[in-house]
Amino acid sequence: MDSLNSGSEQTKETETSDTEPDVVNAQWKAVSESLREEIGEAAYQSWIKPIRVRNIDKGIVHATVPTRFMRDWIVAHYAERIATLWQDEVPEVASVDVAVRNDRAKKAARETIKRQTPPPAGTHPSTSPSSREGVSAALDSRFVFDNFVFGKPNEFAYAAARRVAEADRVPFNPLFLYGGVGLGKTHLMHAIAWQIRQTTPERRVVYLSAEKFMYRFVQAIRESTTMDFKDQFRSVDVLMIDDVQFIAGKESTQEEFFHTFNALVDQGRQMVISADKSPSDLVGMEERLVSRLNCGLVADNHATTYELRLGILQSKVANLKTDIPPKVMEFLAHKITSNVRELEGGLNRIVAHSQLIGRDITIEATQEVLHDLLRANDRRVTIEEIQKQVASHFNIRISDMHSARRARSVARPRQVAMYLSKQLTARSLPEIGRKFGGRDHTTVMHAVKKVEELKTSDPGFAEDIELLRRMLEG
Ligand code: ADP
Ligand code: MG
Repeated sequence: MDSLNSGSEQTKETETSDTEPDVVNAQWKAVSESLREEIGEAAYQSWIKPIRVRNIDKGIVHATVPTRFMRDWIVAHYAERIATLWQDEVPEVASVDVAVRNDRAKKAARETIKRQTPPPAGTHPSTSPSSREGVSAALDSRFVFDNFVFGKPNEFAYAAARRVAEADRVPFNPLFLYGGVGLGKTHLMHAIAWQIRQTTPERRVVYLSAEKFMYRFVQAIRESTTMDFKDQFRSVDVLMIDDVQFIAGKESTQEEFFHTFNALVDQGRQMVISADKSPSDLVGMEERLVSRLNCGLVADNHATTYELRLGILQSKVANLKTDIPPKVMEFLAHKITSNVRELEGGLNRIVAHSQLIGRDITIEATQEVLHDLLRANDRRVTIEEIQKQVASHFNIRISDMHSARRARSVARPRQVAMYLSKQLTARSLPEIGRKFGGRDHTTVMHAVKKVEELKTSDPGFAEDIELLRRMLEG
């Protein structure tokens, strides 16, 4: 870690100030080329290419990147390597300092101008600028890659989306993203569109919901403008259709979609599709469409984990510039498990409430303000589920949860299950006892005490319990 990001580390040997910009750029070119060979083209394009090297001062290479997320990523993954490679060129270089450059506003301004200007002649002769804008739905400015938090459940979908956004050539076709409500499908699609618009504005990206697609199609039929409709879509470089489950069972729309899809794929244009289910699970979709949808890369946004939810909350809070006690965030991440939209909504409500009322954000206040949301998310874990999960975790039979066997190897897991039943359900001690082979409530009480003791004396055991609890809470 010693070569990273610390302005205090300076080498004495190079008291000379700034190196000439041209020289620095040439050095950076050599370094980044070596890095490109080491890490491959995709990672290079994502992380290294956006880096601008400003200068070298007192042995420190000062570099900038467009976003905070990028800075953190580069510091964690590449900065040390960059410093080492640079040392091969210039031995005095001691470290690399990565800062965030503030050119987003400028870039956004440039974007608008660019998009209002007609495209260079010859790019897409069949479409005028106005119809180009008309066909795509508006993009949410918050739905960019930088605001997308990834972890185990969604890292594959995230990586696939980034790949599509960064690729010069179509890497797979279509990219099919699927997953439950509020798990980030639309966010990823918008992020792809934003990024392509930013990096290659000449490419024509169209994003719209399957519902809109159908609406326009029906409208075109009514107005006898189906030729225009077809042209509009068939001159697109990247077509993204969101929530394609909507056209399941709608034959003529599917027919049109299928033809559009084929025409674009055959011309090497990128398709990105989302749905709430995998292609094969979409009911009411034509077989040939399903098989085409399955042809590309199918990526699943899995249900979130506690860790991912906490990460998302932390990132949202950082953007809100409000302080929220970590305990409250942990509480929310534990309790609001259904989807990210609700998690976000919950967070916004607490913040708004505390600002209005001028009250501190505490767990109690959160429970009060969000009681409806919390109740809806209160997925009732059953004792049966607990017994099943615990039995499989400790590799014993479920029947041992009810049996009279007292061997430690079964008695301990049984106690754990009783403890978790007490923690995670609203059942009383006698009720729990009954579910464990008709045991007495004092046995349950003893189990709870025993497990609590073990948790404090044995960190490994405590971790096990925590893991089980998280799995059960979903
Ligand atoms: P879907 O299209 O899958 O129903 P959305 O993309 O609309 O879900 O996501 C719902 C909300 O949750 C959006 O505000 C989105 O920004 C947010 N969200 C979902 N997943 C993430 C994530 N991994 N990181 C940050 N925000 C997320
Ligand atoms: Mg969506």
